[in-house]
Amino acid sequence: MAETLEQIGADVRACQMCKLCQTRTVGVPGEGSPTAEVMFIGEGPGFHEDQQGRPFVGAAGQLLTEMLRTIGMRRQDVFITNVVRCRPPGNRDPLPDELQACDAFTQRQIAVLQPKLIVTLGRYSMARFVGQGPMRDLHGRTREWNGITCLAMYHPAAILRTPTPEMRRIYQEDFAKVPVLLEQERRKREVLALAAVAAEPAPKQLDQLPLF
Ligand code: SF4
Repeated sequence: MAETLEQIGADVRACQMCKLCQTRTVGVPGEGSPTAEVMFIGEGPGFHEDQQGRPFVGAAGQLLTEMLRTIGMRRQDVFITNVVRCRPPGNRDPLPDELQACDAFTQRQIAVLQPKLIVTLGRYSMARFVGQGPMRDLHGRTREWNGITCLAMYHPAAILRTPTPEMRRIYQEDFAKVPVLLEQERRKREVLALAAVAAEPAPKQLDQLPLF
């Protein structure tokens, strides 16, 4: 039977694959539409997320929701998760072994959702799906990963830390790429589907049945 997001969520909440399980309040699997075409992947739960078991519910989450609204999307239209699903103590950076352990859940969620577009929020998910380098150089860039287009963006918390008009403008420009890329991906898939149909061998002609 095909895996579901609910099963993955239950596994996250019971997970002990890295030491973050010892200090979390609850695991935060991620949430959103099971038919989401766009997947947002951030860094890890903060204080409020750890308390509530939901991703991006603090100030950074409010900014993410607001930015989604500017491009005509709602939180419930997309899927939102993190590269680690338990809060690192004191909001420290996730460690390599923690990132590696939790990547199994990221892969499982991607396999279920099969998103058309992955948007990375912050440097850890950018490093995983788009590439290593300074965020100021890589934000707004895309890279194909396993056939999925991935778009790098700042984490909303970074915009809140530097709330200048210039940073807001940059963020808005990067967000504006989401519907454009999504439309491109939809068209690409339509063309591929049509090409696949065209490549199918023509059905054999049925022998004409005698009338009598
Ligand atoms: S961060 Fe991920 S791998 Fe580590 S315990 Fe939590 S769910 Fe498991």
